[in-house]
Amino acid sequence: MDLQKLAEMIKQWGLELGFQQVGITDVDLSQHEAYLQSWLDNGYHGDMEWMARHGMMRARPGELHQGTVRAICVRMDYLPEDAQFASNLRDTSNGYISRYALGRDYHKLIRKKLSQLGKQIEAHFEGADFRPFVDSAPILERPLAQKAGLGWTGKHSLLINPDSGSWFFLGELLVNLPLPTDEQIDEQCGKCRSCITSCPTDAIVDDNIVDARRCISYLTIEYEGVIPEEFRAAMGNRIYGCDDCQLVCPYNRESPLSEQADFQRKSVFNNSDLVHLLKWDEPTFLDNLQGSAIRRIGHKQWRRNLIIAMGNAPFSHAIVEALTSIQGIDPLWDAHIEWALARQKEQAQPNGKQQRLIRIIEKGLPRDA
Ligand code: SF4
Repeated sequence: MDLQKLAEMIKQWGLELGFQQVGITDVDLSQHEAYLQSWLDNGYHGDMEWMARHGMMRARPGELHQGTVRAICVRMDYLPEDAQFASNLRDTSNGYISRYALGRDYHKLIRKKLSQLGKQIEAHFEGADFRPFVDSAPILERPLAQKAGLGWTGKHSLLINPDSGSWFFLGELLVNLPLPTDEQIDEQCGKCRSCITSCPTDAIVDDNIVDARRCISYLTIEYEGVIPEEFRAAMGNRIYGCDDCQLVCPYNRESPLSEQADFQRKSVFNNSDLVHLLKWDEPTFLDNLQGSAIRRIGHKQWRRNLIIAMGNAPFSHAIVEALTSIQGIDPLWDAHIEWALARQKEQAQPNGKQQRLIRIIEKGLPRDA
C-alpha cells in the first residue's frame, strides 16, 4: 500500500476510534531544546525532578523506540457535559476540580485506542511497528502535536485548536513508517494576554513560559509539601488543578462537549461541599476515587488542599469544627490548619452565636463536643 493512502486511512481509523483529530509529524524537536534547557535552568519545573533527570530526552522522541521516524498525534475532547465552571468557582463552600479530572483517568482509555490504531496499521502494512504514549514517557507532546497540525501553543503553554479550543487530551503513536507529514498551524493568540493577566498566582511569567512553582495545578497535584502562604488565598476553592487560563481563553467559548462516558463527572462529586469531602477518611477516598486520576495524589495531599480551600471559604460553624477535629493527626495538615482557622476567624462576625466558634478556633473543641 502506498504511504499517502495509508496516512488517509490512519486518520479515518482514528476518527472511528473516537479521536477528534489525527495528525502526523516527523520527530525532530531539536529547535525546542534550547527553550527546554532554559526552562529547566530557571528551576521552573519545581520539585518535578524527573523533568530535569530526563533532560533533552523529552525533545528526542525518536530515541524512545527503535526505528521511529514519525509520530501520529491524536487529540480527544474531554469537557464533561455539566462543566459548570463559574458556579463552581463562585460557590466557595464547594471544592473546584479541574475539568479533566472529574471523570475516569484518561490514560487507560487513550492508550487502548492508540494500541487499536497501531494494530490496524500493522494489519495493513507489513513490517509496521508502533509504540503508544499517553503521558507515559518523557516526550514534549505539545510541540509534537503542534508540528502535526493539531493546534498551536498558546501563551499559557497549552495547545489550542482554532475550532475546538484547548479542552482535550493528547496521545502519540510512534511508528517506523515514513508517512507524509501534516502542516503546522500558525500561532493565533495575537495581542490577547487574557490567560497571563487572569492567572490567580501570576504563574505565566512570559509568553509560553509557565513557572510551575507558582501554578495551582502544580501546587495541588504535583507538590507534596507545605504550600507557601503567598499562594494559599489565591488558590480559592481549587482543590485539584486549575482551569483559569483556559476559562478565559476566547478560543474556548464554543468548545465542544465530550460524549465519552469516561470523562463525565463521577457521581461522588454530585456533592462537593468542602466539609463533606474533608470527612472522607483514607479508605473512603480510595474507594470513591477508583479509576480517577485524583487518587494518585493520595489522601494526605487531598486533605491538605481541602484545608486550604476551607480557609478561603465563608465563615462556617461546620468548617471550623471539621478543621479542629483533624488537628494533631498529621504535621502536613497541621501546617495548613492553623492558617485556615485564622482565615475563618478573620471572616467571623463576632456576634453572640459565633463567639463559641471563635473560642473553638482559639482553644480547640470543648471536651464534650
Ligand atoms: Fe492565547 Fe489569549 Fe488564549 Fe492566552 S487566553 S492562550 S493569549 S488566545
